[in-house]
Amino acid sequence: MIKLGNKKRSKWIITSAWPYVNAIPHLGNLIGSTLSADVFARFLRMKGEEVVFVSGSDSHGTPVSIEAKKLKVPAEELAFKYHKIIKDLHEKWQISFDNYTITHNPIHIEFVQKMYLDIQKNGYIIEKENESLYCETDDLFLPDRFVEGTCPHCNFEDARGDQCDYCQKLLTPLELIKPKCAVCGNTPTVKKTKHWYLDLPRLQNRLRDLIEKNEIIPVNARQMCLNSIDEGLPERAITRDLEWGIPAPFKNAEGKTIYVWFEAVLGYITAVKEWAEKIINEPDKFEYFWNDSNTKTVYFIGKDNIIFHLIVFPALILAYNDNKKEGKKLVLPYNVSSTEWLMYENTKFSKSRGIGIWIDDALKLAPLDYWRFNLIYNRPEKSDASFLWSEFENNIKMLNDVIGNFIHRSLTFINKQFNSTIPKRIELDNIDKDFILKIEEISGKIGGLLENFELRKALREIVNFGREGNIFLNDKAPWHLIKKNKNAAGQVFNLCAQAVYALAILLGPFIPETSNKILNFLNVNEPIEELSWYSIKDNVLKEGHKLKIPEPLFQKLDITELISKLETVKKTEKGEKELVSYEEFKKLDIRVALIENIEKVPKADKLYKLSIDLGNEKRTLVAGLAEYYKPDDLKGKKIIVLTNLEPRKLKGILSEGMLLAAVDGDNVSILVPDKDLPLGARIE
Ligand SMILES: [Zn+2]
Ligand SMILES: [Zn+2]
Repeated sequence: MIKLGNKKRSKWIITSAWPYVNAIPHLGNLIGSTLSADVFARFLRMKGEEVVFVSGSDSHGTPVSIEAKKLKVPAEELAFKYHKIIKDLHEKWQISFDNYTITHNPIHIEFVQKMYLDIQKNGYIIEKENESLYCETDDLFLPDRFVEGTCPHCNFEDARGDQCDYCQKLLTPLELIKPKCAVCGNTPTVKKTKHWYLDLPRLQNRLRDLIEKNEIIPVNARQMCLNSIDEGLPERAITRDLEWGIPAPFKNAEGKTIYVWFEAVLGYITAVKEWAEKIINEPDKFEYFWNDSNTKTVYFIGKDNIIFHLIVFPALILAYNDNKKEGKKLVLPYNVSSTEWLMYENTKFSKSRGIGIWIDDALKLAPLDYWRFNLIYNRPEKSDASFLWSEFENNIKMLNDVIGNFIHRSLTFINKQFNSTIPKRIELDNIDKDFILKIEEISGKIGGLLENFELRKALREIVNFGREGNIFLNDKAPWHLIKKNKNAAGQVFNLCAQAVYALAILLGPFIPETSNKILNFLNVNEPIEELSWYSIKDNVLKEGHKLKIPEPLFQKLDITELISKLETVKKTEKGEKELVSYEEFKKLDIRVALIENIEKVPKADKLYKLSIDLGNEKRTLVAGLAEYYKPDDLKGKKIIVLTNLEPRKLKGILSEGMLLAAVDGDNVSILVPDKDLPLGARIE
């Protein structure tokens, strides 16, 4: 049911930076690339544009090869194992990739080798023997990240051999002051080796021209690139002395592989090729997207990747395109959407120090859409931002108070007073007309911000739109109106229902799962992915349309509980377990009990109220088993209960103990004694 607007459809290639295969991304990585790209791609699809959204795992990085060496397994095996984990995680985050691939695939390898040979044929590759850093201890040449030291430009002490993280300048290993081997920490020596270089100086003027003419790229990115060009681009080594990677295709380059960053960016091209050939079985779609100069390519990246995407990558494309006919040239970057850093509680994320939240752990703590909402709401768009637990709590509270409440109030009222049926419109007053105008204008307003890559502001404006809904409701006070004039109250909710539909559409790119829930309440059959951004103006919910019964969309977060949960998760991952003494264990009074009766707890989907018999006394327990057991499967069962746990109230019912069960994700099994034991028998 996607309807096209009046605009002509454009072709878009949306990409996000390639994560290293061996590291689970953290929240900062996600918002800096994948999640932002997903919001944009979803928005474009809803607009009816032609979109292919790709990324993949950067598999030829040095850490994988080092780890594989240590584990004595092939690097390839390790890379694919990690790739699967990251791919699955992106699916759980509902990142709507058309293809999430890995650079270690035949289509990529073949294309990269061919592209480099073409670049060489066009005269942009220089062969040079020169000096390189070499670690005697590891018997290893030390390219890019294999060497660390002090930046010669800004004196930052943790600069890497390819780039300084502090001033962002591109470096070569020999420029580093006080270089150290990244594997063993020893000071390397210098040894002669032959390498192949990209002649960036020859492309310098064309690159400058390209950047100066591109009016879309952000000002800071443009300035960073122009500064870099003004200082003079160095010839950059394409090959390195490492065995893990794509074999360099040049004559006499046996044993050398292609520099990982130079080939990983080409993954944007080959991921589309693979998608066309293997996923949709329309091989022509590759050239259709990549060889059309009107295709808009957008790269979602962190700020450390700007130079690679606006200088190195275009340089490769320019060098390749020489002597290619129109229709065979690769399209140059249209734009980058780069973010600043996301910090964690005002410090840098650090795996080794356990600071931060990783995207696998996050989903164990809170629902997906809470994370998506919070991350985009605080997207480090123009300056660094920090993930703060207190802010997370407040943002979800606001989401609930503003949007959740507006939707719930509106739909419950229609449900109760109008038998879940959209009431009719009568004569409109100025407040109504004003509100209708807001509904009609909102998709254009949010769309404009998104087209400008202002994701954060767009989401904030959607929340403001929710506020307008609440203001409208309060101004109209239909709960009073209904006593005098039911039709007038009905009209208020006719308009509110349109606003609820608008919210479902607007939130679609950001929190799609929530959008689908709202659409379900509205009894709209299409999922959000099939609805048009422009459908808000179509007045989809006509008078007489039946709605379903709404449920609350969001719940308050208990941050203290989440933080302690995260600590437990991290400890479990590290294999750390707290030891309990035998005396401590003896304090637990665990006994056999019989389930005599079982009831559902009202307004709690997951809870049962159990009446149990412990032999010499009867008690009440509240247990979260409703999703895993039917009442009849539990009634009459003998179970194991911890009886001296402090009683606590759940949904108003005092629970006097805890039933023991084995849990593995959604697989839950209550413990039962495997012989017939008297009630009250003690577990020791
Ligand atoms: Zn520096
Ligand atoms: Zn070493």
